[in-house]
Amino acid sequence: MGAKQQPTYPDAEALSSAVARLRTMPPLVFAGECDELTAKMAAVTRGEAFLLQGGDCAETFDGVTADNVRNKLRTLLQMAVVLTYAGSVPVVKLGRLAGQYAKPRSSDMETRTVDGQDITLPAYRGDAVNGFDFTPESRIPDPQRLLDVYNASAATLNLVRAFVTGGYADLRQVHTWNTDFVKSSPAGQRYEATAHDIDKALAFMEAIGADPDELRRVDFYSSHEALLMEYEHAMTRVDSRTQGSYNVSGHFVWIGERTRDLDGAHVEYFRHLRNPIGCKLGPTATADDALALAAKLNPQNEPGRLTFITRFGADKVRDGLPGLVEKVTAEGVQVAWVCDPMHGNTFTSSTGYKTRRFDDVIDEVQGFFDVHRGLGTWPGGILVEMTGDDVTECIGGGEELDEQGLAHRYESVVDPRLNRVQSIELAYLVAEMLRD
Ligand code: PEP
Ligand code: MN
Repeated sequence: MGAKQQPTYPDAEALSSAVARLRTMPPLVFAGECDELTAKMAAVTRGEAFLLQGGDCAETFDGVTADNVRNKLRTLLQMAVVLTYAGSVPVVKLGRLAGQYAKPRSSDMETRTVDGQDITLPAYRGDAVNGFDFTPESRIPDPQRLLDVYNASAATLNLVRAFVTGGYADLRQVHTWNTDFVKSSPAGQRYEATAHDIDKALAFMEAIGADPDELRRVDFYSSHEALLMEYEHAMTRVDSRTQGSYNVSGHFVWIGERTRDLDGAHVEYFRHLRNPIGCKLGPTATADDALALAAKLNPQNEPGRLTFITRFGADKVRDGLPGLVEKVTAEGVQVAWVCDPMHGNTFTSSTGYKTRRFDDVIDEVQGFFDVHRGLGTWPGGILVEMTGDDVTECIGGGEELDEQGLAHRYESVVDPRLNRVQSIELAYLVAEMLRD
């Protein structure tokens, strides 16, 4: 059986030439950086650090603009500061960006009513595969898009690297990240107070002559779901230093819920990678599934190598997660546990939008913490779908967005994201859970 969730390209020749070109492109990330992240994920595994992973459900080529990338990065930096300061824990910062262009779909086809007529076309599979426009031409898989993914990822990562090393992420800038609409919201005002406290601590450090480099830059990494075999294989290279195989299109890659079958092509591919990797586990995953995946994906039981990203849903996490964590822990399996509080909590609003309730998202994270606290294991982090913009895609939060409000600014092409204010609110709530 072939790999799941792959497009069928109509032009095999165009596909092989795109893949051949990709194979010649320089790496977007270095193997040494991936190893560095593995070491940080080992700290998460040991309960010494917390992972913040966030970004769009699906990046788009149109979204590769300075404003969009900066706003997203700025929000992630704000969230990380809140978690570090209010939660008193080192935070590993991982963007769900610079490569998150391919989407698994529950159905191969999509039906819409256009001018009173039902029209069925191939589903949108992310900008890596086809176009979002609902026309037959746009929905044809185009291999040239794989090269566009490479270029869009390179442009995004280049800007992110410039921001995080070029002074923008300097802790002395904490106030400047809090701009425009956020500043006037209660979450923004709370952030202002945190930034003020940090300023005072920095002034104290300066006064005593301490000026560590850590204040001036942050370590920031990229991640995406490695879904499209053609792209991921073409971007996999043998490192001359270690002779190991690395996916050089992102520091961290993960296996989605729909492609995690033990004997599937994705698990087989991931098995050979040296990057730190993740694997989603939904409500149907059994403890034995998790053990078998760990044995196959991390046979040396190396800490930092494997992260289980659980996504049960707020209503299932308290019943479903304990059995999994208990058995995996009892077997001595080294794994970082991360909560994705998004994908088990999606529904369609009465107004026709795919959405999530902010309260459900928080409730799942709380359930995740409760389960881990109860078992004495470490709730290692969160994976959230978020943006730095003022979108209206998830219901609730301090701004009390309702179903009617979704139409105001709904921009996601796949799943609903937390907006900037909701993201900062979430960070404060999670910081409280970390302190408890
Ligand atoms: C996702 O992370 O966007 C996603 C599709 O998640 P899952 O594989 O957990 O459904
Ligand atoms: Mn998603």
